[in-house]
Formats: sequence, C-alpha cells, structure tokens
Amino acid sequence: MKRKRNKGLIAAAALAILATLLLTVAVCYHFFKKQIMEDLKVYAVLAESVFAQEDISSFERALGEEAVRITVVEQDGTVVYDSYMPAGEMENHGDRPEIRQAFAKGEGSRIRRSDTLDRNTYYYAKRIDGERVLRVSREGDSAYRIMEFAFPYLLSAALLLSAFGIVIRRRQEDLVQNARLRQEFTANVSHELKTPLAAISGYSELIENGMAARQEEIIRFAGEIHKNANRLLTLINDVIRLSELDGGEEETLSPVNLWEIAQSCAGMLQLEAEKHGVTLFSEGEDAYIMASRQMAEEVLYNLCDNAIRYNKKDGSVFVTVRKHSQEVLLTVKDTGIGIPGEHQDRIFERFYRVDKSRSKSTGGTGLGLAIVKHILIKLNAKLVLKSQPEKGTEITVTFPSAKNREGR
Ligand code: ADP
Repeated sequence: MKRKRNKGLIAAAALAILATLLLTVAVCYHFFKKQIMEDLKVYAVLAESVFAQEDISSFERALGEEAVRITVVEQDGTVVYDSYMPAGEMENHGDRPEIRQAFAKGEGSRIRRSDTLDRNTYYYAKRIDGERVLRVSREGDSAYRIMEFAFPYLLSAALLLSAFGIVIRRRQEDLVQNARLRQEFTANVSHELKTPLAAISGYSELIENGMAARQEEIIRFAGEIHKNANRLLTLINDVIRLSELDGGEEETLSPVNLWEIAQSCAGMLQLEAEKHGVTLFSEGEDAYIMASRQMAEEVLYNLCDNAIRYNKKDGSVFVTVRKHSQEVLLTVKDTGIGIPGEHQDRIFERFYRVDKSRSKSTGGTGLGLAIVKHILIKLNAKLVLKSQPEKGTEITVTFPSAKNREGR
C-alpha cells in the first residue's frame, strides 16, 4: 500500500520535473528567438543603408566576426549579391518563404534547421525598394541545444528539491510515528496500572468487609496488597525514568569506573540470584566510561536482573568488564531460557515481553530494556545480543572509553 503510494509520488515528481524542463526550454527558446530576430532586424537596417551607398564590403568586413550573411534578391528570385558566395553561383531564391513574404508584406522571417540538430539558421528579409529584398541570416542554437544546456541545471535543481522533499517527509513520518508510539505507550501504562490497582482495591475491600476472618488471611491479603503496591511503584518509577530520558534533558557525564559499578551491582543482586538458584560471577578490570553513575547502574542492574530472572535453576550469570583499545566492553552472559530469534529485535520496545506471565511473576515491568536502550543511545554505546532458546543469552555493550574522550 505504502509502496504503491510512493511509486505514484515518484511518477508525479518525474512528470513535474519533465514538464518544468520543457516549459523552461520553451520560454527560453521563445526569448532567444525573439532576440536573434531583433538583432537581425538591426543588421538589416544597417545593411540597407550601407547597401544604398554601394559600399557593402566595408560593412561585411565589420560584420565578418558576427557570421551574419547578407543576400540581396531581385523580384524574380535572382541573387544579385551574397556575402558568402559569388552571386552568380547562387540558385534562384524566389521560392524562399521569407523572401516571398518580404516582397508581399515588406518583411519576412523564417527559422530553418541546419544540417546539425543543435543549430538553426535564422532569416530576416526586408524589402529595400520596389524590386529588391535584402536578407540577413545567421546561425544560432536550436531548442534542442538549449535543452542540452539547461538540462544539467534543472536536474540538479530537481534533485535538490527531491532531497528537501524526502527530508521533510521523513520528519513528518517521524512525527506521526512518535505521536502514535506515545499514544500506544499511554494506553499501555494505563492498562498496566489497572491490574495491581484492582488487586489492591479488591483485597482491601475484603478486609474492610470483614471477609478475612482469620489472622492468616489478613496477613495473606495484606501481603498481596504490599506486593501489588510495590509493582505499582516499580512501574511508575520506570515510566518516570523513561520520560526523563525521553525529555532530552542532558545529564552531565563524567568518567565512571564501570568495573566498580559492576561489582557493587553484583553485590546488590546476590540475594535475588540466590532466590532463583542462580550463581553470579563477575570478572574484570578498572575501566572508565563517560556516563552518570545512575545511568551505568541502570544498565548493569537491568541486564543482570534479566539474566537472573530469565535463568534456570542452578544456572549462572557471568558479568565481565574489559578494556579493548579505545573501548570498554561489558558482557552479561547467562545460561537461561534464551530468546527466540523472532523476538530478539523487539524486546527493546516498551512493554514487549516474550512471556508475559513469567515477566510479571518475577517483578518485571517490560520497560527495563527500553530504558537500557535509551541510556545506551545517550552514551554513544552499542549493544549486541546473541541468544539461543534453552541455551542462554549473551549481551555485549561497547562503550567509548572515557580516556579517549577526555583526550588523556
Ligand atoms: P521485563 O521487565 O519484562 O524483564 P525487559 O524490558 O527487561 O522487561 O525485557 C523484555 C523482555 O525480554 C522480557 O520480558 C523477556 O521476555 C526478554 N528478556 C530480557 N532479558 C532476557 C534474558 N537475559 N534471557 C531471556 N529473555 C530475556
């Protein structure tokens, strides 16, 4: 559908360019012709006065450079004078339309194609007395030649215009796309907020109505309320963080030691790892990147948290930080459930989850990787994902090294 519309647009643009080219050439050619004819008229008037004084050769010499040809023809078509050839060698000119016209009306003009396609011969004839017509002629560019001349200019203009058009169209498409994504996001957030709120409302109502008769029930319901309230908080925090990152406000970046942050993150996640029966390994060296501490923590936390939550019992997570020439490489590798190929590109979208119930039951919001992606764009870092279902996932992030940015 879109393809089709694009093809139509391209065809319309090509047609418009062609029409512009033809129109421009037509207008230019019109004025060019007019100019030449006017010049010829002036020459004719001059030639006439000189011819009357019988001193045409000096005039010829003066005109020599201009390549203007002067011919004088009598009423029966006999050429009595020609500036290019001896008059005696010239054929009868009685049938030349411009000459016939001049005898009839006082003046006449014609344009005839020369032997070559890109030249024309322009004729202007004028009756100088009752029996003779003086004709001046010269060669000039044809419309074809003008087209040849104008074409590269018009083509460049057309290309420039198309480039502008493409840029503006892209921008428009981006705007529309952005608006759509925002709308979708708002709808998704509302939807995600609804479930825990409904649970909180339901359980608290049960307690309120005295439906929780026993102490254990009250504790269980309160536990549900607590869990769902926490869900809400995490979700809202993630949404706020995303909108901060979206807002385009520049966060100040300074050199931070990624290895140190990786270690502290591993420490923080130790308990979570034990809960899932997963062992966390970390290995690395001091390596500085330009970031804010918060951003570096968020990247590490989200990647490691996923590696733990989407792991298997007795699985492992390996976190490594390595310097590599002008870059710092962070790798988070797990022996978990992996991500099927068709989902691999999409998991960085907001609220995209391969297995919704698993994500929710482990406290996921579906926003972690979207936040990571946003941060990595800001830090000029690149992410490569390798994953095989049932085998595990390896994510490598390449940061520009801080030293290299600071020029140290
Ligand atoms: P969530 O809060 O659901 O974990 P994320 O944005 O962090 O949201 O991740 C999006 C989805 O990508 C997850 O729901 C999960 O399906 C998949 N995913 C992310 N990391 C991994 C991983 N290490 N192994 C397997 N699947 C993963």
